[in-house]
Amino acid sequence: MDGRRRVPRTDTVLAAPELVAAQGRLGRAAVKEAVAAAQRRVRHGELSPDDVVRAAVAALPARAAALRPVINATGVLLHTNLGRAPLSAAAIEAVTAAAGAADVEFDLATGRRARRGRDALDALARAVPAAEDAHVVNNNAAALVLAAAALARGREIVVSRGELVEIGDGFRIPDLLVSTGARLREVGTTNRTSREDYAAALGPDTGFVLKVHPSNYRIEGFTGAAGIAELAGLGVPVVADVGSGLLRPEPLLPDEPDAATALGSGADLVTASGDKLLGGPQAGLLLGRRDLVERCRRHPLARALRVDKLTLAALEATLRGPATPVDEALRADPEELAARAAALAGTLARAGLDARAVPSAAAVGGGGAPGVTLPSAAVSLPVRLAAPLRTGEPPVVGRIEGGRLLLDLRAVPAARDGDVARAALAAHAAPEGE
Ligand SMILES: *Cc1c(COP(=O)(O)O)cnc(C)c1O
Repeated sequence: MDGRRRVPRTDTVLAAPELVAAQGRLGRAAVKEAVAAAQRRVRHGELSPDDVVRAAVAALPARAAALRPVINATGVLLHTNLGRAPLSAAAIEAVTAAAGAADVEFDLATGRRARRGRDALDALARAVPAAEDAHVVNNNAAALVLAAAALARGREIVVSRGELVEIGDGFRIPDLLVSTGARLREVGTTNRTSREDYAAALGPDTGFVLKVHPSNYRIEGFTGAAGIAELAGLGVPVVADVGSGLLRPEPLLPDEPDAATALGSGADLVTASGDKLLGGPQAGLLLGRRDLVERCRRHPLARALRVDKLTLAALEATLRGPATPVDEALRADPEELAARAAALAGTLARAGLDARAVPSAAAVGGGGAPGVTLPSAAVSLPVRLAAPLRTGEPPVVGRIEGGRLLLDLRAVPAARDGDVARAALAAHAAPEGE
């Protein structure tokens, strides 16, 4: 028998209503690929010609973009590999609303061009009253680049040797600053730098003094650093990179710097991330003296570093809206986490899994609050479930510790516990080695 004659024609298959609808969602190329794969299976005698449409539908990707939403059960609240801060429902709604044509740079009342992102900037001004002005760029690295280019190109940035840090994945702040054409003037030593060290280095070539929060490491022992307040009177601008994006002090993270305190201590300009503890979209914030922010905004690089309407919408909703998922994870009650872990482990154990609730230690992550452990609770499972859980639907990413897979619940919204349970059951049922 000639199998080819019995393979349904591509045009006919693509005209099936399910596949027409799928082309509307996923695009023609993805659907054609799924159809071609099903036709090959018919040719090889693995599939009945009558089942081509069904097989193609079953093989379609769930979404047009391959990026998959995952459940973060690592116990690291801001996991850089998992996209750092999850957006709040309010921010997601704002992104959706802004996705089409939107008045990002247009005044509907007058019909004229308006200041881009004015509502997000207004929300920032309200959140940080100590800042005279604000500007938003792609990320904190971009904020630092812009400050260096606008305020210190061809001049010197005075910085302590204890603050020349690498943030992660080879991102080194000194290299970034020098790439703008600014020169670094290193002062002090790795463990100790005084106000006098800074003062002695200042001169006509000074662009600004930079204070960097060495987010992801700590020096202990014989240490000393000049605070922002001590440097504020030196007669040159002080730029402070606070990193995590806290706008106000956070009592749960007493050592984490924040924008309001830095400005109140005399910093002229503060830079911060949008997608760390602020809990918003990837963004870089520049907050502070009006003239300095204006010089950054007017620099030619500002256009290359500018954020899109989706970021502006998400940022505004994060600033004005309800508590973010990061906030909720940070404030989660350890007893409630333990109760959730016990309930989940009970469900799984009754279904025959080797599951038990255990205490766990979560962390802020994303370079924030390196010394802080957040008491948490996890479901402990056999390590062999790690791979099927990662590749299941939805993917659940835990962490391996002491020969067990831990699903830490601090960064998992309580509403997702049912999904975690179903995913673990499916992973348990999956054939070994898959
Ligand atoms: C995370 C961090 C950065 C980089 O911020 P991005 O938003 O990832 O570009 C810069 N400085 C400090 C102190 C940080 O913690």
